[in-house]
Amino acid sequence: MKITLQNYTPLVICANAIRTCWQSFDKSDCGGEKDKELIDRVGNKFKHASTLEHLVYNFYIQGISRALLQEFARHRIASLSVKSSRYTLKELKSEITFTCKDSERASKYLVLTGIEMVDEMSIKALENLRLVLVEGISNDKAKYCLPESYKTELTWTINARSLQNFLTLRSDKSALWEIQNLAHALYDSLPEDHKYLFNVKEYD
Ligand SMILES: Cc1cc2nc3c(=O)[nH]c(=O)nc-3n(C[C@H](O)[C@H](O)[C@H](O)COP(=O)(O)OP(=O)(O)OC[C@H]3O[C@@H](n4cnc5c(N)ncnc54)[C@H](O)[C@@H]3O)c2cc1C
Repeated sequence: MKITLQNYTPLVICANAIRTCWQSFDKSDCGGEKDKELIDRVGNKFKHASTLEHLVYNFYIQGISRALLQEFARHRIASLSVKSSRYTLKELKSEITFTCKDSERASKYLVLTGIEMVDEMSIKALENLRLVLVEGISNDKAKYCLPESYKTELTWTINARSLQNFLTLRSDKSALWEIQNLAHALYDSLPEDHKYLFNVKEYD
């Protein structure tokens, strides 16, 4: 998977939103240590967490499976724009036959697990889909035989409050392995001076 943080709100915007309550703008150090401490104290420790909603992150996420997408989409306090299989499946039509051993070529389209039997079955499903498309069947019918491992990509916009919730839930070892990887990759892509607001659980 590939994560690109396209844009984010500077910390000073959140600090100023908090300072609005007390009209203490003159105490700001423009997103420096004083502002960072204020955001953590009010947003996290005092649980005035709505102030964290002023920090917004725009990510571009590539190479995740549709299995992961299904879980991702359960996080309602975020906005998603996802690559449409209805409009993009034709990318597969120009490919030649996939055999079970074509894992490198197939990995352009599939998230592989490293479990030989699962990956071979996934490649078979990809080949079945290719045959359906070559037959001339429309994308919006062909998509019903997409494997869950089929790769997709999306733009994802989320505020800091909701991202805290996402990272806590999805970096936990009880979460799907792929979404755990995603949670860690999202955290890694955050600006260094924002990371103190977030926690990810260590891998086992
Ligand atoms: C390990 C794990 C296993 C899971 N297994 C399953 C499963 O088997 N089946 C399944 O269906 N789902 C499963 N889920 C999904 C889970 O139930 C949540 O839908 C998902 O984690 C999104 O969490 P959320 O509601 O906190 O996030 P968001 O939807 O982003 O909501 C963020 C926060 O906003 C508030 N909120 C949002 N909507 C409402 C509302 N309608 N009413 C009140 N407060 C609201 C809540 O405080 C919520 O925490 C699983 C999740 C995890 C982490």
